[in-house]
Amino acid sequence: MHIKVEHLCKRFGDFAAVDDVSFEVSDGSLVALLGPSGSGKSTILRILAGLESADSGQVWFDGEPATDLHARVRGVGFVFQHYALFRHLTVAQNIGFGLDVRRVEKSAVRKRVKELLALTGLSGLEQRYPSQLSGGQRQRVALARALAPEPKVLLLDEPFGAVDAKVREELRQWLRRLHDEVGVTSIFVTHDQEEAFSVSDRVLLVNHGRIEQNGTPMEILDDPATEFVARFVGEVNVFPATVRDDRAQSGALNVRIKGSAPSGLAHLVIRSYDLKLWREDPGVATVQRMVTFGDRVRVQALVDGAGPIIAHFPRRSSLLRGVEPGCRVQVEVTTARAYPAEASSLHPIAAT
Ligand code: ATP
Repeated sequence: MHIKVEHLCKRFGDFAAVDDVSFEVSDGSLVALLGPSGSGKSTILRILAGLESADSGQVWFDGEPATDLHARVRGVGFVFQHYALFRHLTVAQNIGFGLDVRRVEKSAVRKRVKELLALTGLSGLEQRYPSQLSGGQRQRVALARALAPEPKVLLLDEPFGAVDAKVREELRQWLRRLHDEVGVTSIFVTHDQEEAFSVSDRVLLVNHGRIEQNGTPMEILDDPATEFVARFVGEVNVFPATVRDDRAQSGALNVRIKGSAPSGLAHLVIRSYDLKLWREDPGVATVQRMVTFGDRVRVQALVDGAGPIIAHFPRRSSLLRGVEPGCRVQVEVTTARAYPAEASSLHPIAAT
């Protein structure tokens, strides 16, 4: 199913939860709505499901207007963060529930439940009750239940929010495999960038009820459209700077910028892995802290006239030879971007 959303708006009182949102999801793809808490992701999803009505705008399913369709006839499967399984029903009864209420013939329900048990790796657990399952298993039952009536669209709201990190990682990989097998157009909400990037074909980055960027994970990582996107995705250093032509100046840093930025005051944004530093006197910065975790070292240095900068290195990098707190270093930036200064206020990355 191809989904098209045009100029969707939803207010709660004076508050614009969804503010002129337009996007398309191609048939069979898996798309993430990623953004901070309260940015409007769930509201967009609920409007698509027909659980919430938009104030204005249009939703199209396969070219047919769906804006005013009742939730029950949209052909949408929905999975929530909290499994919302029926406690008094077994796994098999939970999975078959949507088919039973549609009065599907009993033998057909049994067949479909069996297929879904196999697909979701739950065979053998069909007679258990939800209280006898782990969090990951419960969430797989919730997914199987949503898939049972063969929905045209699967909507998932923070589906793995309630399980621990390890199970979450397993469920992510499993969701991707399941999606590739079943091929149902799916949209899932998450505030976890790693989850969005590792699972989805495209990511819609939502902020203050608007889509800041719609792209593949690589496009969003390599070419953040706005300062918000650059800051939200990965660790970045941000400095007030002056841009002229293709260079930005901030204190002792003078760097070439990628893409275009208007001349004048700007925010210079540098990812923590897009720079090198090495011991050199006088150099441009003084090392403040070095923290090792696993095979990585995080170096924090104070750049003359600019502020603190954070860089990540492999632990055995030859660049780190002789680098220690208090020493002077040279800094080379490999990739940097600049965004108009007025677009958002500058909150420097906290020096920790
Ligand atoms: P989270 O990740 O925390 O779930 P979200 O990005 O999914 O956040 P929404 O749940 O869509 O955000 O909420 C967007 C904004 O709209 C929030 O500020 C929320 O408080 C507000 N909001 C959502 N539903 C209602 C409602 N029924 N009445 C009033 N305000 C609401």
